[in-house]
Amino acid sequence: MDFVSTRGGGEPVSFNEAFARGLAPDGGLYVPRHLPMLPQSILVEDALPYAALAWDFLSLFDNDHDSEHLIDIIDRSYGDFSDTMNAPLQQLADNLFVLELFHGPSLSFKDFGLQLIGSLFEEQIERTGVPINVLGATSGDTGSAAIHGLAGKKGAKVFILYPEGRISELQERQMTCTGADNIYPIPIQGTFDDGQAIVKELMSDLAFKEEMRLSAINSINVVRVLAQCVYYVHAFTQLPPDNRDDISFVVPTGNFGNIFAGWMVHQMGLPVDRFVVATNQNDILYRLFNTGEYKPDAVRPSHAPSMDIQVASNFERFLYYHNEKNAKATMAQMEQFKKDGSIKIANFNASNFAATRSTDEDILKNIRMVKEKYDYVVDPHTACGFQDLDLSSTHVILATAHPAKFPDTIQKAIGETPTDPALEKLKKKEMVKYPVAATAEAVRKFLKENGI
Ligand SMILES: *Cc1c(COP(=O)(O)O)cnc(C)c1O
Repeated sequence: MDFVSTRGGGEPVSFNEAFARGLAPDGGLYVPRHLPMLPQSILVEDALPYAALAWDFLSLFDNDHDSEHLIDIIDRSYGDFSDTMNAPLQQLADNLFVLELFHGPSLSFKDFGLQLIGSLFEEQIERTGVPINVLGATSGDTGSAAIHGLAGKKGAKVFILYPEGRISELQERQMTCTGADNIYPIPIQGTFDDGQAIVKELMSDLAFKEEMRLSAINSINVVRVLAQCVYYVHAFTQLPPDNRDDISFVVPTGNFGNIFAGWMVHQMGLPVDRFVVATNQNDILYRLFNTGEYKPDAVRPSHAPSMDIQVASNFERFLYYHNEKNAKATMAQMEQFKKDGSIKIANFNASNFAATRSTDEDILKNIRMVKEKYDYVVDPHTACGFQDLDLSSTHVILATAHPAKFPDTIQKAIGETPTDPALEKLKKKEMVKYPVAATAEAVRKFLKENGI
């Protein structure tokens, strides 16, 4: 499968090339040139082992690795999960299911994308002999997942920008207490969007990118999106047959990467009725799906910090498909967005989508409600998925993080403190971090001094 830019520039590239580049040279995002149909056999079989399903799916897009190689990469990525199902589906009520995506090494769904990315980088470094510097920004979970995917790996250094004081203490510990000397967690005074803007700026400086052999881990990397497609199919195959009509997937959303993956598999034939974009008080996407206007506001820190985002980078991919793959129109809209700071999308038809928003109060209320009604503890991000729930049809809520990552909020909501042994261990370790000023120039200088 070839990959093309949402802005139409450059030649189509292969899986390995799209993976290695992250951002396309014209500033667009890579998407598969075509979306193949899912083999029907995938949908009729009951719950294939996760790795087998991942191979079935990813081999539709990866023509660069031979079968055995890809199997090995997938096994290395998904072997280290604490649940043998990787993404087990829990039933809370007749029509209500939770897809638990927090059994990976860093306890959030980001492990599904970033464990695979880590293994692919490792394979790339072995194959090419060229060491790389991985640069990313995180609102909390991406960073820890990327770091777990790459800590201690030879030939790679990892630089992760995060907004100081705006992520949970345990998230910070997951990044800063690894003990690995190829990991550089970088706190900045600013928001996640500031960090992401710096990464985007440095990544679009092609000379610098080449000089430093920079690689991306943000959800701009198309391989992350592909990796995340797999668990939607996995969820479907775990549903009881009676629950396979009229499915709504409810997705706690920030950068629109997770839900976009689901929407993409739906385009490939996964029968889904609706995708519900569950936002927190940073509700740009809620407003988009209700008004057709995409207009960032100031980021307001919330109880669901990994969703404290206004500019949703994967939105450009959605726009491209909304424009029926018209890259020129997509580029014009993105340029207008850059110029005016907002865009109004004509004929915005998002019939497969609905959106909800949760205030911090709603998050606490939902954690309490789920505990009381279903005796189940959800983390503050997943709690957004329980907002305005209508259970007249099957709902699958994606549980994006383990509640033990956010003990203070859970304590506040229900008076208990969830724990996890891996997190407890971190509390005794020393934090190692590298504060840098929140400008592209300062980060550039830091990379030059510390890069591999
Ligand atoms: C990253 C993250 C989200 C948001 O996912 P997007 O792909 O950015 O929409 C939601 N919940 C948790 C726990 C996360 O880490």
